[in-house]
Amino acid sequence: MLDGKTKVYGVIGDPIEHTLSPFIHNKIMEKLKENKTYVPYHVERNQLGDAIKGAWSLKIDGLNVTVPHKETVRQHLIGMDDFASQVGAVNTLKYTKEGYYGYNTDVYGLGRSLEVNDIELKGSNVLLIGAGGAARAAAVLCASKGVKKLMIMNRTLSKAEELACMVKTYYEVDVEIYPLSVKPLAKRIDVAIQTTSIGMHPYEDQMVITEDLCAKIQVAVDIIYNPKETLFLKVAKKKGAKVVNGLEMLFYQGIKAFEIWAEEELPRDLQKNLLEELKEYLERRL
Ligand code: NAP
Repeated sequence: MLDGKTKVYGVIGDPIEHTLSPFIHNKIMEKLKENKTYVPYHVERNQLGDAIKGAWSLKIDGLNVTVPHKETVRQHLIGMDDFASQVGAVNTLKYTKEGYYGYNTDVYGLGRSLEVNDIELKGSNVLLIGAGGAARAAAVLCASKGVKKLMIMNRTLSKAEELACMVKTYYEVDVEIYPLSVKPLAKRIDVAIQTTSIGMHPYEDQMVITEDLCAKIQVAVDIIYNPKETLFLKVAKKKGAKVVNGLEMLFYQGIKAFEIWAEEELPRDLQKNLLEELKEYLERRL
């Protein structure tokens, strides 16, 4: 029941119809029996400033931010955490009396998803496929965890170069960049993280690296979760790799956002049950 004391949260983006965030957050609120609700808001590019001002005036306690606003929202904030400024993108806003403060929980989400799957980044040779927004979060995670070598592969080499520069600004890390046509020199790739949109509809039958390169990969991570198994994951699995999709990354970035708003950690058993419910919900939706 909503009443005069209900606290409101939400997600802003364009498009917003397919977001899974309301499912995740409303389920947490329901499980914790809290008087809170979480709503999707369709905000177009030219309405972002007004939307943030309006939300703040309405004292909306917390917001998630998705495509295409993750970068542009920064100019409407009073400040942001280190990961958000390193990545150059914000996906979580917390209300303060002075204005909204921004966080990037994608870095945490990917990190936690690797952790729960027993994937170690420290000291590993990591292949990062892609150099877009999600790759920036993955690169910051890899560098902050102390990878041995970060190999960034991208269709547009200049973007891989920019990403390598950004990472080196903040971390002491060995970075190599490659176009998609050149195979990295490393004999073994401990972890490969696929961050391009290739593998998703309408590119389900495509992947950006060769089968040959897949054979070198020990652990293949694709941040896409729909389809559950992209062609990249299918091929890597066939070649003997352990595979992980992007659903847990999405889930744990949401968990972290909730914890930032609540200023406390969510019980692990609640998280575990909720992840199972999210998987079932997604199966029903697909
Ligand atoms: P983005 O900033 O637009 O970056 C897209 C990346 O894909 C770039 O590296 C781009 O290469 C590459 N790419 C696009 N089309 C290509 C093609 N035909 N051939 C080769 N490379 C191609 O997008 P993003 O925000 O990083 O999102 C990427 C994917 O991650 C999306 O599928 C998104 O849904 C997913 N994602 C998942 C989560 C999660 O929680 N699981 C979180 C964030 C994003 P160029 O630089 O050459 O254009």
